[in-house]
Amino acid sequence: MTQSVLVLNSGSSSVKFQLLEPDSGRSLAEGIVERIGEGSSAAALTAGTTHLERNDPVADHAAALRTMASLLEEAGIRLADQDLLAVGHRVVHGGPDLHRPTPVDDALLDRLRELAPLAPLHNPPAILGIEVGREALPDVPHVAVFDTAFFSDLPASAATYAIDRDVAERYRIRRYGFHGTSHQYVSEQAAVFLDRPLTSLRQIVLHLGNGASASAIVGGRPVDTSMGLTPMEGLVMGTRSGDIDPGIIFYLNRTAGMEVGDIESMLNRRSGVRGLGGEVDFRVLHQRIESGDEAARLAYDVYIHRLRKYIGAYLAVLGGADVITFTAGVGENDPAVRRDALSGLGVFGIELDEHLNESPASGARRISAEGAPTAVLVIPTDEELAIARACADVLGGGRGDG
Ligand code: ADP
Repeated sequence: MTQSVLVLNSGSSSVKFQLLEPDSGRSLAEGIVERIGEGSSAAALTAGTTHLERNDPVADHAAALRTMASLLEEAGIRLADQDLLAVGHRVVHGGPDLHRPTPVDDALLDRLRELAPLAPLHNPPAILGIEVGREALPDVPHVAVFDTAFFSDLPASAATYAIDRDVAERYRIRRYGFHGTSHQYVSEQAAVFLDRPLTSLRQIVLHLGNGASASAIVGGRPVDTSMGLTPMEGLVMGTRSGDIDPGIIFYLNRTAGMEVGDIESMLNRRSGVRGLGGEVDFRVLHQRIESGDEAARLAYDVYIHRLRKYIGAYLAVLGGADVITFTAGVGENDPAVRRDALSGLGVFGIELDEHLNESPASGARRISAEGAPTAVLVIPTDEELAIARACADVLGGGRGDG
């Protein structure tokens, strides 16, 4: 039987899962259990042509994994009968020293608990996911794969905040970067698509999903990225502000009497495209813009302006780009965002083929004009596959080509 990996992505009220074969890349099943701890959950699973949904209450993360196992069984997949190589856990923050995919043991869990203050919104649910995952599947190796890993050797000039050096060192404040699994996977796929050596390429990768981040990559190694100590820095996102003047925080604290927690919640959950335009889904945002909604228009314009600023910055960091790649929900599916992000950049060798950009398509594709010096690509990200392959590599059961 071909070996498979179960990939878990545990959030505060949801668990996303996918069962896939690292060798072939084939996905056997994927799904999500949402609204954990609420009155009724929303659980769904797709396996081939089978699609299942449930709405029974799911009390906690352990119950979410039981729901997952029972949905898989209903689709004819018994985890106990699988040749399960590993359970791969997405962990957002690896802190200053966890860079490699790491088999989970008690010591690693302790280290992750120590790091929790660095990523208070993201790491605690991942730790919980690992704890309940180990209880549910005690005989399978569990591996933690870190979102920060790819950016661990950012050049010091890009990783360092210009703040008091002693304070930064004591509290391990630096730019860590996130979505690393996606940026690495997509930049490698871009080289494969172009049939050019990864080592020869200057790349900009734009991961535009609900969370959004940009990276500048030379020869397969990142030289800058837009997210920082936390995933709040950088681009405007679905619900996060991205870059702001830190003075706003002090001002709100002193003048509006908002507590730090309230401000953090506002910047994470009620800002970005939703905060400005009242909507997080770009499909709806476009409809609202078409019907004359000024707030939606402004949200879109602010989003695009910030994106263009980062593209410009990274063109300067790189001295020009050989390839710019769009990925994730917005990047893969929204031709208007791609067009508006890159319009008028012909002087930098960047020119889209309007028809290729607008044509509905899935899969890796080129959307730049014939002969334009910078290749512009759309490449679907696949963080689960990248995590599954990282597990196979670290456990020595996979392809062995890294
Ligand atoms: P996450 O960061 O949660 O993984 P995704 O990468 O799945 O997010 O991106 C989700 C977002 O992608 C949605 O909120 C929506 O704005 C956008 N999106 C998905 N499909 C489309 C589409 N067809 N057109 C425009 N935007 C889309």
